[in-house]
Amino acid sequence: MGSGPAILSLKDVRYAWPGRASFALDIPDFTLAASESVLLLGESGSGKSTLLSLICGTITADAGTVTVAGTDIASMSAGQRDQFRAEHIGLIFQQFNLLPYARVLDNVLLPLRFAPLRRARAGVPLETASLLCSSLGLPADAIAAHAGMLSVGQQQRVAAARALIGAPPLIVADEPTSALDAATQATFLDLLFAQVRTSGGTLLMVSHDARLAPHFDRVVYMSDIIRTRQGAL
Ligand code: ADP
Ligand code: MG
Repeated sequence: MGSGPAILSLKDVRYAWPGRASFALDIPDFTLAASESVLLLGESGSGKSTLLSLICGTITADAGTVTVAGTDIASMSAGQRDQFRAEHIGLIFQQFNLLPYARVLDNVLLPLRFAPLRRARAGVPLETASLLCSSLGLPADAIAAHAGMLSVGQQQRVAAARALIGAPPLIVADEPTSALDAATQATFLDLLFAQVRTSGGTLLMVSHDARLAPHFDRVVYMSDIIRTRQGAL
């Protein structure tokens, strides 16, 4: 369960996509405690991916503060935000975003290239990457392959290993199980949770799939944290 200081805190955050008057996010207060796992549920189009982009700093809030591991990322330059994200946030994307022609281990090692502190936490990077992959259930022949050769379920495990390497304090996952069947989903989540616990990280996953709820410490609904002003100017 969550305890200790907040690892993520959004206060009075507002965001509208440029030129898209029909959608706006308005989040008065959303906080994650250190080491908790939270599932954020919402319909397609409710703004889950937009919210994760605000948390990762790939887009910046029009108003309010986004504090990650004690630092307000809204006040950073774009370059500082990229650096901060690389060091502090492990990302698992809906479409995995692996480099198909690169080896599995090179995919896993990629985030360390831009994050010296995270690299230092990763021990001997190649050994750590290999251990993470096998802990996530990847067989040796898959670990030795190019990422594009793997099954969808295996690629998802590579994406998880890439997010976990170097133990970033916040792991963010955008519908990472939507491409998996139910049995593969449950196995993947069990393995992911075991590794998140080992690293001591905080996990925020967004999904439209309420069946994932029993795996998490806490479930939050988009409708409970946002005021969405459909049709606002
Ligand atoms: P979800 O992840 O919950 O499905 P999104 O955050 O992707 O929701 O989308 C919320 C709203 O923002 C939608 O109306 C969508 O069309 C819009 N939106 C998402 N990404 C962009 C973008 N890059 N540019 C403009 N509008 C976007
Ligand atoms: Mg989305």
